Amino acid sequence: MNTLFDNAIQSIQLGIEDYEANDARRPLSAVRNFYAGVLLLAKEVLVRAAPNANPKDVVGATYKPVLDGDGGINFVSGTRTVDFHGIAERFKDFGLKIDQASLNDLSRIRNDMEHLYTEANRETVREAIAKAFPVVVDLFREIDEDPLECLGDSWTVMLDVKALYERELKQCTETFDGVDWQSQALSEAARPCPKCGSHLVYRLDQTRSESGFADAQCRRCGEKIDAITLMETALEAHFEYERYSAAKDGAEDPLGMCPECATKTYVMFNEENQCTNCFMSLEECDRCHVSLTPNNVSDESSSLCGYCSNLFSKDD
Ligand SMILES: [Zn+2]
Ligand SMILES: [Zn+2]
Ligand SMILES: [Zn+2]
Repeated sequence: MNTLFDNAIQSIQLGIEDYEANDARRPLSAVRNFYAGVLLLAKEVLVRAAPNANPKDVVGATYKPVLDGDGGINFVSGTRTVDFHGIAERFKDFGLKIDQASLNDLSRIRNDMEHLYTEANRETVREAIAKAFPVVVDLFREIDEDPLECLGDSWTVMLDVKALYERELKQCTETFDGVDWQSQALSEAARPCPKCGSHLVYRLDQTRSESGFADAQCRRCGEKIDAITLMETALEAHFEYERYSAAKDGAEDPLGMCPECATKTYVMFNEENQCTNCFMSLEECDRCHVSLTPNNVSDESSSLCGYCSNLFSKDD
């Protein structure tokens, strides 16, 4: 009997049972069990990758050097084992495949649930299971086990949950059909809820095509999201990677604060150079002809750079 693997299977099955119980107190338990199960399964994958090593060493989080009595040292593992963050690292070190983005989503849902306990509901569990799905598929494939055989009915439930979530996501996404974003970035961006991060966000009034009327609501936490917040959150998530690299390389931030309407919806990316809320477009400084951006434009005038604007004010 392989207890680590058995525990993993049992935890995942318990999580699915909690989800199916449809009991208001059990969503938290469902996500906890499910999360624990996925973590155990990931550890099993690591252990099987090094069949001759001591399993405790394979999943240890800390190692300390001890004298081996022969003039050298040995590393012994402490009692702590790798957490979710450490798992992803170790998979990389071992050259094993794991869906990092989905793993992060699952971890975020679990943390949010611990903090927003009262707001946990079946939708949250469903999203957690749907996000974990590709991770679980990868893990079973890595150890050559058949998920249906191992998980039985729970696997069928997971398949249904994932299909249901994808259907809901499609329904939500479709409510934004017909919005005239007038922005490449906004039409490509996903629209996460600013409060809980769920992608199950739908548009309330579908009769107006102007983006400024795209007020929305989150199906998971119920948050009402005004159109401007929706756009700001969408752009922030959409440009997360580009903003990170721009900051690292000292390049221009592709997303800035619009000098005209003071929302963080000014996009400077590829062909796009405009505020996606009020559609104002910065050109060049009237005096020195430098290209204006939200970062160098004057607070006084959107046709001057801060430097030139300062010179003018000194002349007064
Ligand atoms: Zn939400
Ligand atoms: Zn604007
Ligand atoms: Zn200037």
